[in-house]
Amino acid sequence: MGQPVAGNPTQYMMEKAFAAAGLDWRYLTLEVAPEQLADAVRGMKAMGFRGGNFTVPHKVAVVPLLDALSPAAELIGAVNCANHIDGRLVGENTDGKGFVQSLRTVIDPVGKQIVVLGAGGAARAVAVELAVAGAAAITIVNRTAERGQPLVDLLASKTAAAATLVPWQGEYSVPESANVLINATSIGLNDSSARVPVLASTLRPGLVVADVVFNPPQTRFLAEAQQHGCATLDGLGMLVNQAVIGFEIWTGTKPDAAVMREALEEFLGI
Ligand code: NDP
Repeated sequence: MGQPVAGNPTQYMMEKAFAAAGLDWRYLTLEVAPEQLADAVRGMKAMGFRGGNFTVPHKVAVVPLLDALSPAAELIGAVNCANHIDGRLVGENTDGKGFVQSLRTVIDPVGKQIVVLGAGGAARAVAVELAVAGAAAITIVNRTAERGQPLVDLLASKTAAAATLVPWQGEYSVPESANVLINATSIGLNDSSARVPVLASTLRPGLVVADVVFNPPQTRFLAEAQQHGCATLDGLGMLVNQAVIGFEIWTGTKPDAAVMREALEEFLGI
């Protein structure tokens, strides 16, 4: 285990991947105040940026500032990646795609019953991409209906997946019909002792349990799931995959994904 590296994990992965591909490219991390987002987006074009990523709190606010959206970004209503083509900035959302690619290494989502804990930005991207990938049913479990209901309405009206909202009160009991359980909340982020309130006795072998939290990669949620015999998936794969997809969008070539994974582990000091 090494020392974590300061900075941004995607920048670290991307610059290692550019170097490995022999590309003299840079990935900059630039802090932009919300009131200056529109100027910053115009600046990206003026300065000839090939593209960029957007993170919290800009993922939704940037949508009306772009020239076009991919179908997935349009559905999700949030953008984390933009591609500069012929003077136009096209918004994409690679978070959910990255998650689905990672999940496929453990289970094929087609026809599966999936429970998503949370209804924020990550949950929205993950749920929409799972529905697009062919999941049969998606249950959204969230504390507040104000965020949960619009996501369920979106899934029900715009995708073929059946969608249900479960208000999260106390310990959530995972239904026996569920194939996959995903923590898409921020519980566990930078806190290995934080507990996701799920009734431990409803975790069982045969259930795939995934976490979007990547720091620390081994969350308490995943540790408990392993103790109950579940197959588990950490958030590192999702983070690496969104970077791989971004690299492909901007350069038109495939990066060395192993270099990116290694860079992320080095960044996190694991
Ligand atoms: P948001 O702030 O948009 O959403 C947070 C969600 O977590 C909401 O649904 C919120 O519920 C829920 N939540 C937070 N605290 C609690 C709690 N104590 N009990 C129950 N629910 C809770 O965050 P994001 O969706 O942007 O990010 C969520 C996580 O996903 C973060 O840890 C982030 O690092 C991770 N992430 C990982 C990526 C990867 O590549 N691995 C990519 C993107 C994000 P409510 O609506 O009721 O407030």
